[in-house]
Amino acid sequence: MVSRVIPVDPFDLVIIGGTGDLARRKILPALYRRFCAGQMPDGARVIGAARSDMDDAAWRDFVGAALDEFAGAAGCDDRGRFLSMLSYVTLDALGARGWDKLAEMLDSSRVRAFYFSVGPRLFGPLAERLQRHGLADEGARIVVEKPFGHDLGSARALNVALAQHFDENQIYRIDHYLGKETVQNLMAIRFGNMLFEPLWNSQYVDHIQITVAETVGVNGRGEYYERAGAMRDMVQNHMMQLLCLIAMEPPAKFEPDAVRDEKLKVIRALDPVEETDVVRGQYLADGAQPGFKEHVENAESTTESFIALKARISNWRWAGTPFYLRTGKRLRARTTEIAVVFKDTPHSIFGPEAGQHRNILTIRLQPNEGIDLGVTIKEPGPGGMRLIDVPLDMTFAQALGPEAEGVPDAYERLIMDVIRGNQTLFMRGDEVEAAWAWTDPIIARWEEAGQVPLTYDTGSSGPEEALALMHRDGRRWREIRA
Ligand code: NAD
Repeated sequence: MVSRVIPVDPFDLVIIGGTGDLARRKILPALYRRFCAGQMPDGARVIGAARSDMDDAAWRDFVGAALDEFAGAAGCDDRGRFLSMLSYVTLDALGARGWDKLAEMLDSSRVRAFYFSVGPRLFGPLAERLQRHGLADEGARIVVEKPFGHDLGSARALNVALAQHFDENQIYRIDHYLGKETVQNLMAIRFGNMLFEPLWNSQYVDHIQITVAETVGVNGRGEYYERAGAMRDMVQNHMMQLLCLIAMEPPAKFEPDAVRDEKLKVIRALDPVEETDVVRGQYLADGAQPGFKEHVENAESTTESFIALKARISNWRWAGTPFYLRTGKRLRARTTEIAVVFKDTPHSIFGPEAGQHRNILTIRLQPNEGIDLGVTIKEPGPGGMRLIDVPLDMTFAQALGPEAEGVPDAYERLIMDVIRGNQTLFMRGDEVEAAWAWTDPIIARWEEAGQVPLTYDTGSSGPEEALALMHRDGRRWREIRA
């Protein structure tokens, strides 16, 4: 298998916030890796734009240092040529400084992408200034980062502000989960195989579990996280995207609006969540490690670092099959997986002593990306018909060999999709609003009640009550392990 790298057309990419953390850690290393892979054509230009006074040489030094730190093992002999594609303009998103110079630098005959790597309060002013300086024409597109709003009202206001200057097909809202290779594999597994789809409904699926567990705390991001919490930071965006991809109807084509229409239908079919179907938690201090309240520097904090909830989708396919979602920080292991737990066979010909055995299809998104199908077989040897479950386990790295190593990371893929003008892996405005419309009442309920989250120990699976959420349905969470 030889991976195909098709160079994109020459482009100008302006990183507004080009001296920030996201640019340094993700965007610039991603561009460099695509350059080394041969995907960035001669003549492509990357322009850093931010408030700091800097010249081209100083920004190239900044980028060089970022690549040393964050580009990993990826690299090529030609770093100098990559750096020569870079230039810098000092720009004030809220003032006049730098805009005329930026407009002069850009070539209106090619694709121009403006990556808003700044806080959301600058999205509207930036869009307005781009238009005022003649930079919002058809060849232009803008990329906006999460968080896209804090609730439905603010997300709607952002959509309105952007729509005054750009068409929806020029707006690329990033949810970097969608750029992950394994997340796209969800669609390949479901819609590229005949095997699963006939069983993919409430007649055969007992329930589905989605777990995103982290071992890290909120270190260094306390201020942001205290305002967001796990619900806004993880559930409203990344986890709902996973839920959509696992639950949606097959789109007629793998095209942006066909896929996004189907995802939107899933969100709109979600029932409101019952109060008793949500468990929130905060991690406690552990020896030398501070707890959540110390990390966010608020002894009265009522923000959650863990959430587990039961979601129901009221449509023909999923009525009666619950979706259990769980995410948290400082948990036992770092893992992201989706488990599709099939129902018991309707009748056991082996009698009650053979025990209950269920097929579980586990899609591991990280680490050890792969799929694992639990199959029931006979325990080898004499002594009657005893049954055991064994995994049909495929780790993609093993199955694909070296091919799996050169796979672009989420930001590499998404940035190249922006240049190519492919919005399939980006969220549409109505999708983001629908997701907020579902999460807002859940958040409002606990904010109105001043609900205090439960506590849990570092290295655990979250509060005990999260286990009870499934136990009372006669089910149990899969163990959190790497
Ligand atoms: P940051 O504070 O490190 O960088 C902000 C950048 O914006 C700097 O380059 C700064 O000069 C520039 N800037 C600020 N005000 C400006 C103005 N008025 N005019 C021009 N430039 C201005 O922030 P960050 O961590 O890079 O995050 C950027 C955005 O990406 C935020 O919305 C954040 O929520 C989001 N995000 C960040 C990460 C991450 O890993 N850092 C991950 C996901 C999303």
